Amino acid sequence: MPQAKLTDRFGRTINYVRLSVTDRCDFRCVYCMAEDMTFLPRQQVLTLEEIARLARTFTSLGAEKIRLTGGEPLVRKDIVDLVKEIGSLSLRDFAMTTNGSQLSKLAEPLKRAGLKRLNISLDSLDAERFHAITRTGQLNQVLDGIDAARGAGFEGIKLNVVVMKGRNDDEVPELIEFARRKRIDISFIEEMPLGQITGHNRGESLCTSDQVRALIHPHHELVPTTADSGGPARYYRMPNSPIRVGFISPHSHNFCATCNRVRVTVEGRLLLCLGNEHAVDLRRILRGHPVNDDKLKDTIVRAMDLKPERHHFAGDGDVQILRFMNMTGG
Ligand code: SAM
Ligand code: SF4
Repeated sequence: MPQAKLTDRFGRTINYVRLSVTDRCDFRCVYCMAEDMTFLPRQQVLTLEEIARLARTFTSLGAEKIRLTGGEPLVRKDIVDLVKEIGSLSLRDFAMTTNGSQLSKLAEPLKRAGLKRLNISLDSLDAERFHAITRTGQLNQVLDGIDAARGAGFEGIKLNVVVMKGRNDDEVPELIEFARRKRIDISFIEEMPLGQITGHNRGESLCTSDQVRALIHPHHELVPTTADSGGPARYYRMPNSPIRVGFISPHSHNFCATCNRVRVTVEGRLLLCLGNEHAVDLRRILRGHPVNDDKLKDTIVRAMDLKPERHHFAGDGDVQILRFMNMTGG
């Protein structure tokens, strides 16, 4: 096991990296993107080789967990090759967040390539509503993808639900029943103010984790667990089911004190915090030093000093961060 070398000014050890592999997506979820998006030109996007090099470098600096995200990671061409490359790094955990639309055909190849866990986004079980929230998505395709993922034998699968008042909050009990039936974990996420959107008012639609728990309460008792992912989710169990129910609450529960993660955008910007703009350009280093990794390692180690103590999301829906979630790498 490599020795942890990434620590910040607040004594936090950074051992978890989220790598965005594309800013593109086949969906246009209302909380994530504008309807009409301009995506990055190809030369600004890291190549798969550059992303693999980042993964190797972070691993050599003590990263034990890598998550691939986007945009939609499964729309990136040759994504399975990248998964294979990173899958060979003997990470403790190797995961992907996906909208599930391509999983029918890719779940098995991803599992074979070494991916251990999947988070699949699912905001509604009603086809029309699902289409309205994702603007382009087909619910059936995603449900088939979830079944394909279950069949492929991943170590873990979790559903992610962004809960919005007046859009899908009434479906919380049904989504819980779905997760129980499929025997997969489920997390409910508070919407974050990333990127300017026009479809709805985030302040008005914010459904806090306390409110989501109140929606579950009449149906199931939720027992807090001590499970700690080192991350923002707090987990609960139900007495008569093996699944875990997580709550990701950037507004109502500040999780910064135990933050163990950084993100790299597909342009190669190392983001030290989801809720702040602090960043370091790694693409310049990757391309300026194509053979030797010393400068890259040194830049990453020094960047940890820039990691802010905490984020300051306010619940009023005002945009504090101009980049969209698809650029951030959820
Ligand atoms: N396309 C993949 C997906 O949707 O799962 C991966 C990328 S997506 C940006 C990662 C996660 O971020 C998804 O679960 C999505 O629901 C969530 N997300 C996107 N925008 C968000 C926002 N403004 N607030 C909270 N969660 C958001
Ligand atoms: Fe695409 Fe995921 Fe953003 Fe939805 S949340 S638009 S699926 S990147």
